[in-house]
Amino acid sequence: MALIVQKFGGTSVGTVERIEQVAEKVKKFREAGHDIVVVVSAMSGETNRLIGLAKQVMEQPVPRELDVMVSTGEQVTIALLSMALIKRGVSAVSYTGNQVRILTDSAHTKARILSIDDANIRSDLKAGRVVVVAGFQGVDEHGNITTLGRGGSDTTGVALAAALKADECQIYTDVDGVYTTDPRVVPQARRLDKITFEEMLEMASLGSKVLQIRSVEFAGKYNVPLRVLHSFQEGPGTLITLDEEESMEQPIISGIAFNRDEAKLTIRGVPDTPGVAFKILGPISAANIEVDMIVQNVSHDNTTDFTFTVHRNDYLAALEILKQTAANIGAREATGDTNIAKVSIVGVGMRSHAGVASRMFEALAKESINIQMISTSEIKVSVVIEEKYLELAVRALHTAFELDAPARQGE
Ligand code: ASP
Ligand code: MG
Repeated sequence: MALIVQKFGGTSVGTVERIEQVAEKVKKFREAGHDIVVVVSAMSGETNRLIGLAKQVMEQPVPRELDVMVSTGEQVTIALLSMALIKRGVSAVSYTGNQVRILTDSAHTKARILSIDDANIRSDLKAGRVVVVAGFQGVDEHGNITTLGRGGSDTTGVALAAALKADECQIYTDVDGVYTTDPRVVPQARRLDKITFEEMLEMASLGSKVLQIRSVEFAGKYNVPLRVLHSFQEGPGTLITLDEEESMEQPIISGIAFNRDEAKLTIRGVPDTPGVAFKILGPISAANIEVDMIVQNVSHDNTTDFTFTVHRNDYLAALEILKQTAANIGAREATGDTNIAKVSIVGVGMRSHAGVASRMFEALAKESINIQMISTSEIKVSVVIEEKYLELAVRALHTAFELDAPARQGE
């Protein structure tokens, strides 16, 4: 018999009928003899609705009060799910974050979990009860209600699984697993049976939105086996674990991530002297703007060009700063471009295979796609290209790295 933490997201508990369906599913696991802790999100749309209400009163809601309010979304679903279980003859009890005592720091709206008191939960499990816990929320040392940031119920699920040393943390959602890439862009995208924490972290931070990034970090740190599953379809889902098994069938690349959220800035004709990178990026980071990729050219005539990317939301502010810097340091000009996209190939298989990057560049060259910037890490190669070629690039790479699903019979 296993101890399983099951987390159901907002769409999975979006209506009363769905909550009843979730109860049926939990009941089956319980009847199979497993100990079950369920974590739920608010009904889909509810957190946004609550934030909207707050903003009607106050444009920048006071964070402490905002947390008091948005935490109610999850309080509703834990009670409804517990009722639906009890109605089915399954003994169940609900707890808010405060009642469990999920202790967090005091950073309202983005709090971090410090510790979890598992005493109540353990005694309930022992007494045969299903324990239903509100996701996304905790309490600080002064008794203030806190929340963990959007999508934070994933982190609640993983943190509970870690505290209870659960056998598995199952994340139920509206997709049946983690895919090689977004199936809306590549219809031949395949569900992965397995992926490592590291790869999942890269995929998530590069724009694949299945799990909150922090929950993956947490799961990796405490080695909690995570499984992403569809709430209402049968299937094995995708298991996220530590082990990188070497198998012949294991593809070198696990997935292709992309995003359109970045913009590129270039400063040209920069005098190439020590400290120049700091002079350019210092003011950017002083303005709290995060920089992602950075490229400095080899210099000609003692001047160089310097290019970097920022989030598109920060583009105008960054360009303003860069123009100022250009004037200050005697650079020729500062320009920018928002029509870019980043495409990345991710896979732990890269560690043991040479030539992965050049295979990527070859596939892009065949489609005549120009690469503007390149960055690499141990398990990732990212390129910046013109945004209009994004979908073509993702499809070409998916094929080049043999990720396409075999066509089904009759298709
Ligand atoms: N209800 C919260 C949100 O929408 C937390 C979650 O669903 O994970 O962000
Ligand atoms: Mg979510």
